[in-house]
Amino acid sequence: MYINVSEIPPEGFDFPRGAPQGFDVNFEGRELFPLRSIHISWLEFNAAFSGQDLLFNGRCGGAVSYQCDRCGDDISTDVDLSFHRIFESDELMGSGGDIELKRGDLEITLFDGEGFYLEDVIYEQLILTMPQQALCKEDCRGLCQKCGTNRNSSPCNCIVSDVDPRLEKLKTLREKME
Ligand SMILES: [Zn+2]
Ligand SMILES: [Zn+2]
Repeated sequence: MYINVSEIPPEGFDFPRGAPQGFDVNFEGRELFPLRSIHISWLEFNAAFSGQDLLFNGRCGGAVSYQCDRCGDDISTDVDLSFHRIFESDELMGSGGDIELKRGDLEITLFDGEGFYLEDVIYEQLILTMPQQALCKEDCRGLCQKCGTNRNSSPCNCIVSDVDPRLEKLKTLREKME
């Protein structure tokens, strides 16, 4: 869904109040990594001008999926996302000088002055809210290092030393010295 800034009236624009015909937020063909899929089911936003800036605030919800860091299984989760952006046309920014990237809690985004894709705003916000470590469950047992079996569903009989490789090195060093 492309937001064409020149089509936003001076008094601003409310979605969906200003556009009750539904919306088309589509992530098809986009690089989503580290996410696997994004589905947005509802959306509301307000676009308003403040001088040369476009203030863009909104909320959306839906579901995303991504991969467990340990076992690779799909994790699906519902999302409820707020976004607050200030768009400043880079033409209006002039050249040189330091660009102030944050003003209060709002993220300032430079754009070409014509418009932007809502998908970009949503994607960036989703990435910011991703957990540091993506786990399907807190005690995910991961894949067996030997046979590759998912140890959550079928524990194998492989003997895998859980020793930190650095400690392992120290151990062999110590054995050599003795
Ligand atoms: Zn897992
Ligand atoms: Zn195994």
